[in-house]
Amino acid sequence: MDSWLQAAAEMVDSQLVPRGIIQVSVLEAMRSVPRHRFVPDEYRTLAYSDCALPIGNGQTISQPYMVARMTELLDLNQGDRVLEVGTGSGYQAAVLSEMGMKVVSIERIAQLAQRASALMEELGYHVQVLIDDGRSGYEKGAPFNGIIVTAAASRVEPPWFSQLADGGRLMVPLRVSGGMERLLLRNRTGKGYLDSWFDYCQFVPVLPGVVED
Ligand code: SAH
Repeated sequence: MDSWLQAAAEMVDSQLVPRGIIQVSVLEAMRSVPRHRFVPDEYRTLAYSDCALPIGNGQTISQPYMVARMTELLDLNQGDRVLEVGTGSGYQAAVLSEMGMKVVSIERIAQLAQRASALMEELGYHVQVLIDDGRSGYEKGAPFNGIIVTAAASRVEPPWFSQLADGGRLMVPLRVSGGMERLLLRNRTGKGYLDSWFDYCQFVPVLPGVVED
């Protein structure tokens, strides 16, 4: 077996399962996606470690547990349409794609978007990557069964809710009091929405505008 496959399996067995991740599709996807390809060469030996890592441009690839937790809470079904805000390295988008989702991902930093898009294509993940300010969502692709924001937001942007299908779910790390951030799951229902709060966490911030190179 390739050594990275072993490292990925160990990551799942030691970081995800003991912390309560049980959705088989999430665990399987995270055993299969080569996370070491999504981190810069100098961090390759740390790719399967229990932490976030720098990916350049002042941004980070999320900790494996956080990727698993947010993905599991979205409770998606194969073939669902998912929008990600904050492509970064492309790892989260690749995990969703590996699970059989139809993924559109938006990134405001052109360099990151281009790198992630090329890598996912090379690895065979069919993810549509857009360079844009993800605060507006992606109206043309709506409605989405799931929207996942992978940067810390100070509020739920209205398009993130309006672009959800009925029964769809929004997962977003939201700033709460005391300088903390917390995972918010907003379920769109026929009449309105239902909110549930989960882990405290730390993400890079949602920022306005686009950075072209
Ligand atoms: N999901 C990523 C983690 C990326 S970190 C991964 O798996 O690697 C968060 C990313 O959100 C950064 O790349 C940052 O540039 C991006 N981001 C921040 N504000 C944004 C916005 N308004 N629109 C789109 N992307 C944004």
